[in-house]
Amino acid sequence: GTLAGMGIPQLGGYKPTARIYKLGLLLAASLTVCTTLWMVSSSLTSGSSSLVSDIIGGKGHNKNNNNHYNSIQPATTDGNDLLAGHLPAARVSYDQPAEGERVNAAIVALVRNSELDGLRKSIRMFEDRFNRRYKYPYVLLNDQNFTQEFRDGIAAITKNEVRYGVLDSDHWGYSPSVTPEMTEKKLAENKNRYLYGGSLSYRFMCRFQSGLFYKHPLLRDLDWYWRLEPDVEYYCDLDYDPFVFMRDRGIKYGFTIAPREGRRTVETLWHHTREWIKDNVELLPEKSLVNWVMGTDGHYNLCHFWSNFEIVDLSLYRSAAYESYFNYLDNAQGFFYERWGDAPIHSIAATLLLEKGQIHWFEDIGYKHPGNMHCPRDPDMHSKCICDPGKAYTYRSACQSRFAKVNNMARERMLEIIRNSEREYQLHGSSEGTV
Ligand code: GDP
Ligand code: MN
Repeated sequence: GTLAGMGIPQLGGYKPTARIYKLGLLLAASLTVCTTLWMVSSSLTSGSSSLVSDIIGGKGHNKNNNNHYNSIQPATTDGNDLLAGHLPAARVSYDQPAEGERVNAAIVALVRNSELDGLRKSIRMFEDRFNRRYKYPYVLLNDQNFTQEFRDGIAAITKNEVRYGVLDSDHWGYSPSVTPEMTEKKLAENKNRYLYGGSLSYRFMCRFQSGLFYKHPLLRDLDWYWRLEPDVEYYCDLDYDPFVFMRDRGIKYGFTIAPREGRRTVETLWHHTREWIKDNVELLPEKSLVNWVMGTDGHYNLCHFWSNFEIVDLSLYRSAAYESYFNYLDNAQGFFYERWGDAPIHSIAATLLLEKGQIHWFEDIGYKHPGNMHCPRDPDMHSKCICDPGKAYTYRSACQSRFAKVNNMARERMLEIIRNSEREYQLHGSSEGTV
């Protein structure tokens, strides 16, 4: 796409249709009636005139609370303050997405039947902030059959299309390089060393999310995905389509939160990554953002994009380089004998294979997954978000500020750094990097 002169697409790329103009006319007519009613009612009662405006706007803006009314400047005024102040105009006019502007994408969640309540909460917030208007389908995946109760519970919370998929043993199982017996032994050893240290299903999950989910029949034909999990929260109204935003700018990876991984879960991941790099130089681009994850000491600094939220152009994971990288790791046993997460793997691959301009921090998407929260601090976002920027983890995160600072590194420079630090990695791939 062309980069010139593009701000954030205010209309989300959706063009009004004839149907919407008719709706507009209807709205204008009912607005005239309601305004008249409102003026009459507020001149009659001095105490509470909010009834009519509450009914039509539902936002409690009323004449008796002038300060409140005047301080609210909805983003969608379009030069008509009265309309915007009393009617959710944006929601009405964007409800019909134009076909040509949609991206071939889905909202994807891997989830257990037992997490119905948590997923209903996530979907509800996701719909309210974004998807009620943009109508992307959901793809829900599970290693077990979804129960009827689960399907009914989801159907009750969204009118959008939901596709259900079950994983077979190819997608939910051991790496070919490990045995169940040795895995059991390693799980027992690591049980008390880190979170999920003793969990087998967590390892199946991480392996699936790392190298397999985009090959599932329900995702095979998708170009993009946005990952959702149970019990996450979305705080800010989004009035543009992040998929379209990314596509139009050549961005392939979008994130909100970037923490550091627990060192013990990835003890040899960087060692194996370096081995793969040395063997596959021809698969790597001339320059990349790899120095976000690797310092000049050649170590992995444990920075990663928190993949419980990610918006990705799936051509990244379907590239020859990523396929080769995943297979290499799958052969290196660490999904099971350690606890390699899909987040560090996606992140190392994205920064190794993409340039800075192809990776985007969605600072305007307020988001929480248990553990960490992001809330935009830009005062302009205050009218759209229901969160406290003072509590945001992201403005204190060393990895996040490193992301703002670092630039692309040439492939030759990366290889030189790897050569120079080779001796430390000969015996054991200990990661001792600093951010
Ligand atoms: P965390 O985010 O790393 O703490 O791990 P979660 O427990 O949230 O798991 C990540 C995602 O995978 C969530 O969407 C879970 O619902 C899903 N998940 C994890 N384990 C399983 C499992 O055994 N079966 C299924 N179907 N989903 C799982
Ligand atoms: Mn989670």
